[in-house]
Amino acid sequence: MAESTKRAANNLEAILSQKDLKGVEAALYPKPQAANTVIPAGYSGTSEDIKRRHALLGVSEEYLGRLLPSGGFDELEVFSNNAENLVGVVQVPLGVAGPLRINGIHAQGDYIIPLATHEAALVASYHRGALAITQSGGCTTMLLNEAVSRSPGFVFDNLIETGKFLAWLLPQEGRLREVAESTTRHGKLIDMSATIEGNHVYLRFDYHTGDAAGQNMVTIATQAVCDFIRKNSPVRPKAVYVEANQSGDKKASSQSFQHVRGKKVTCEVELPAEVLKRSFRATSRQMEDYWRISALGGALSGTIGLQGHYANGLAALFIACGQDAACVAEAAVGMTRFEARGDALYATVTLPNLIVGTVGGGTGLPTQRACLEILGLYGAGKAKAFAEVCAGVVLAGELSIIAALATGNFSRAHEVLARLRKRQTHD
Ligand code: NAP
Repeated sequence: MAESTKRAANNLEAILSQKDLKGVEAALYPKPQAANTVIPAGYSGTSEDIKRRHALLGVSEEYLGRLLPSGGFDELEVFSNNAENLVGVVQVPLGVAGPLRINGIHAQGDYIIPLATHEAALVASYHRGALAITQSGGCTTMLLNEAVSRSPGFVFDNLIETGKFLAWLLPQEGRLREVAESTTRHGKLIDMSATIEGNHVYLRFDYHTGDAAGQNMVTIATQAVCDFIRKNSPVRPKAVYVEANQSGDKKASSQSFQHVRGKKVTCEVELPAEVLKRSFRATSRQMEDYWRISALGGALSGTIGLQGHYANGLAALFIACGQDAACVAEAAVGMTRFEARGDALYATVTLPNLIVGTVGGGTGLPTQRACLEILGLYGAGKAKAFAEVCAGVVLAGELSIIAALATGNFSRAHEVLARLRKRQTHD
């Protein structure tokens, strides 16, 4: 995290041009006095409680009104299970791309893709990628693996105690499974591993979570396992933590990249020359050449995996469909590869960390459910198909951005779609 000393000096000069050193110190010191307003913590979504919170926000009636859905206060209660200290909802524009044809193990057919974003040009880009895939017969998509982990941590006095603990624990796997699965109808404990680091033990429990993304499910199940261990272990741990940050929850990690977090999906398409020309005004050679330099650029910069912009499509799809948007942190890693096959282009993406679900979380909220219904993927039995669709969407985005950069149209597309259009609207 080194800073260039020249830039640090410039930054310091800029700060001191605004305030003298005393002023800067005064701004940075902790201020011990109590806050003027404290938002009372609460789960309630009743109109009285929301009005009480509104009164503390310090903005005009006009802005408070903008926070309400069209049905006003009464419509807000439905959100109270999904956010505490509720004051309203934020609107995000929703566009649709496609149809995107998926030839998957679980997803089959032409899907209209809902994308929630305020990044102009994003939907247009995924739309042209989706159409190019569909005109090529669709993408072949395969769910390869599934597991959601929790990794509790245990602290002992020393390595001898650690060894005794593991000697007791390892034969208990069957019992631990019973304990974990007693907390859920759909969660299944499928694997367990241990990492020893001195007097610390990290266990990793891998679960199948049915059609739920599963983070709450695995936390509750693993808490039950930790309680069982605390109660029954002949070696008493000095501390037990339900998650010791080895699961890869909400962060890109090389461990999750190598294995799986959520659902691992791979997806491929071969685009004929005429589709490349019609959709992207590009040749297979141009596409492969740009893919190569961008893959090497990614390697040189030290990214986990090699890809262009998985986060764009995943964030927009996750927000639209009630997924945990923060899980883009781990989901948006993977491998993109393009190969010219004569005039045709072979393109593939592999995503090992898709944490997605079609029940639970935010999937049942009104607009989020509507988006899953557009896909035909709301509810039980649909999560695997949704994961395969996610990979198809990502492939559409990779094709479109690589084409834009390969043909020199990237900047122009953003200028036309994001800047000029806005200027025309606002002028
Ligand atoms: P959840 O809404 O807490 O749980 C899913 C619920 O759906 C469970 O009650 C499950 O019952 C039920 N269910 C019904 N039909 C099902 C089916 N076919 N397949 C699977 N479950 C079914 O959601 P979650 O997926 O466990 O957790 C996702 C949420 O956790 C997200 O909102 C995310 O933001 C949040 N999150 C939590 C943590 C954490 O550490 N707690 C961390 C990150 C994110 P059974 O359990 O009885 O099967």
